[in-house]
Amino acid sequence: MLVAGDAGGFVNGFSAEGIYYAMVSGDLAAASVADALATQAAGHSLYRRRWHAEIGTELEDAVVLQRSLFDDTRKIDALVEARRTERRS
Ligand SMILES: Cc1cc2nc3c(=O)[nH]c(=O)nc-3n(C[C@H](O)[C@H](O)[C@H](O)COP(=O)(O)OP(=O)(O)OC[C@H]3O[C@@H](n4cnc5c(N)ncnc54)[C@H](O)[C@@H]3O)c2cc1C
Repeated sequence: MLVAGDAGGFVNGFSAEGIYYAMVSGDLAAASVADALATQAAGHSLYRRRWHAEIGTELEDAVVLQRSLFDDTRKIDALVEARRTERRS
């Protein structure tokens, strides 16, 4: 069984976007199943390699951003304030 989209955790933890990742992971899961049936390769290995290459890095980066920014609302406040100040100048 291969899981894609929200069910597979393919959501950007920083931007909360999931549509793109659902479409990409669904596409890669379907291609991996088709290739596994045609070549007797392990579908889950193909799928893991493919999603990691395509969207793995950005999802990992999003988790780092999410953890470093959202663990303390004062950081978000500082970010919004910095942007507001920048706009005025
Ligand atoms: C309020 C809100 C706003 C969002 N805004 C954005 C946005 O602006 N941009 C963005 O990229 N992402 C956004 N997202 C996230 C995005 O909607 C999801 O990441 C994306 O829809 C995931 O697609 P999916 O196919 O994995 O799951 P889903 O779109 O949830 O599809 C799953 C489907 O399976 C069906 N289902 C569930 N259980 C069963 C069952 N037992 N049998 C048969 N069918 C079943 C459900 O009815 C549903 O149709 C938002 C989410 C929410 C809740």
